[in-house]
Amino acid sequence: MKEQNYLDHLVGVFGQPVSENPGVVIQDAAFAAMGLERWHFLTLDVDRDKLEDALRGLKAFKMRGVNCTIPHKIAVMQYLDEISESARLIGAVNTIVNENGRLFGENTDGKGFMMSLAENGVDVRGKKAVVFGAGGAARAICVEMGLAGVGALHIVNRPQDRALGDALVDILRRNTAAQVAYTDWTEPFRVPADADIVVNATSVGLYPDVSALPNVDLDSILPTMFVQDVIPNPTETALIREMRRRGVPCATGAGMLVEQAALNIEMWTGRKPDKAVMYHALEEALS
Ligand code: NDP
Repeated sequence: MKEQNYLDHLVGVFGQPVSENPGVVIQDAAFAAMGLERWHFLTLDVDRDKLEDALRGLKAFKMRGVNCTIPHKIAVMQYLDEISESARLIGAVNTIVNENGRLFGENTDGKGFMMSLAENGVDVRGKKAVVFGAGGAARAICVEMGLAGVGALHIVNRPQDRALGDALVDILRRNTAAQVAYTDWTEPFRVPADADIVVNATSVGLYPDVSALPNVDLDSILPTMFVQDVIPNPTETALIREMRRRGVPCATGAGMLVEQAALNIEMWTGRKPDKAVMYHALEEALS
């Protein structure tokens, strides 16, 4: 007789707004390909003032974990039992693992970025990186590169949120060995010729403003550099299209998102998913 086990294993995402979050598409495709029929990813609209209740629900249903997105990434930290070192430095958690009622918080935004670099044969140790933006994604990316031994980090951000930039510079100087520089972004930025890695960690190019390019002198980005975009939607941004046309090695934010989702699945199930299946599902969903 066939084994009769209909127990559901739940994971998901808490956010608001969250209805356009494509996480479910990638995760469900991965679970199906792994034969994990009773694993389900739930897209859950959680009010800001109901986060604690939602976490109680997570424990009550013995959910294996969740992702947290806007506006919960920072607020959730106060309810967790343990937080990884990088998530603590970043100051935000986007992934929770429920270990028998004990909640562990991790930030996989920057880890997905590092995996994307690794997939493309880029090792940050001793390298010079230029990062556009100083928001949540930039923060995660800079901390991970700093902890991994990047030689120099040059952060470029618009002057209106200087406090955010200053805070990031301070975190990096106190916790990593990287040389850190900061530029107020007021005119087209010329990437120094000795840069190795260039990261667009702004939201420039995100759907629906798909033709937007970061305010950068594109001629200053050379084929000796590697460009990583963070924008997952569209899967090929105007920046990536331009880099490919110019023969500059590069990687998309969609790839980074899949790497991050794969990491989440591994943390929750203990198994590695098929990333090609996940990428294909994302492309189909966004086409
Ligand atoms: P935040 O709102 O925290 O930060 C946005 C950043 O973009 C800020 O530094 C902001 O600068 C900058 N920015 C926005 N518009 C412009 C502009 N016109 N010119 C220059 N800079 C600009 O968002 P996040 O950091 O959380 O997210 C940023 C992007 O990263 C989003 O598009 C998100 O989808 C993507 N992302 C992708 C992930 C992936 O796995 N692929 C993971 C996480 C995020 P300012 O302070 O001057 O406003």
